[in-house]
Amino acid sequence: MSSVITKTDAVVLKAMKYRDTSKIVTFYTRSFGKLKGIAKGARQLRSKFGSSLDPLSQVSLVLYKKEQRDLHLISQCDLRGSPKQTRSDLEKMAVGLAVLELVDQVAHEEEGHEALYLLLSETLDRIEDAERNVLNLYFSFVLRSSALLGFSPDVASCSACNRSLDELEGERSVFFRLSSGGILCPSCAEGSRTRDGNRDLRFHKRGTRNIPAVREEGRVRVEIGTMKVLSFLLKSPLANVTMLALGPEKGNEIDGTLRLYLRQHFENIKPVKALDLLRKFNSAGS
Ligand SMILES: [Zn+2]
Repeated sequence: MSSVITKTDAVVLKAMKYRDTSKIVTFYTRSFGKLKGIAKGARQLRSKFGSSLDPLSQVSLVLYKKEQRDLHLISQCDLRGSPKQTRSDLEKMAVGLAVLELVDQVAHEEEGHEALYLLLSETLDRIEDAERNVLNLYFSFVLRSSALLGFSPDVASCSACNRSLDELEGERSVFFRLSSGGILCPSCAEGSRTRDGNRDLRFHKRGTRNIPAVREEGRVRVEIGTMKVLSFLLKSPLANVTMLALGPEKGNEIDGTLRLYLRQHFENIKPVKALDLLRKFNSAGS
């Protein structure tokens, strides 16, 4: 079986122990998408790999890539900068790991997607540098990565009558259609409801948090202001995403809406665990 030595930039998604001294590491690489490698001797005391194989590391990777194998031999892995702030701050760490968890779930093995790699890399850089509202970067990543993977939410105007969010200012809420990622204003929704029957998802109160209740796949009622936030998180330059303070209630509504959206588009997707701690932490504080 032939193997080719190859070099690519990568982000470490996760690593697990293998046998006595080695590690199996999952990367998201610039050239090959998601890829697994074995780092022999990585757990020995003076390993040449150092901390480069820890999740969140952005690295320059040299590996022997074997054809028709799903595990490649890592020859060299050099840090291109260490996310010190992210690793020492609970919120940044949770948001960074949530982004990695999502990529691990939605990305295909060994199918290169350079734009997704660049989005991932820049998002991790922004998390490292952020001074506030770090969670916005996760929301933004969900929206932007969905768009790159072919499920682009169109949250700027009603998909039926084309009125923009600004023109719909007088309405309290619109409907976000989970399968198309488009929105429907109340009057257009009224028309389609009589055709389709009532298939709305509503948020109901459970404790202090708004949790969307799924009755059927369909659409979720979202406040106009929240829709504007989604539009901002999707379209504004990534550097501006953390300028917006959401507050816990709006944050929960967005979190819930995006979870439904992900579940609609990625079969078998599991809730992102890294954020659970943060959710508990935030609801205890609010
Ligand atoms: Zn409309």
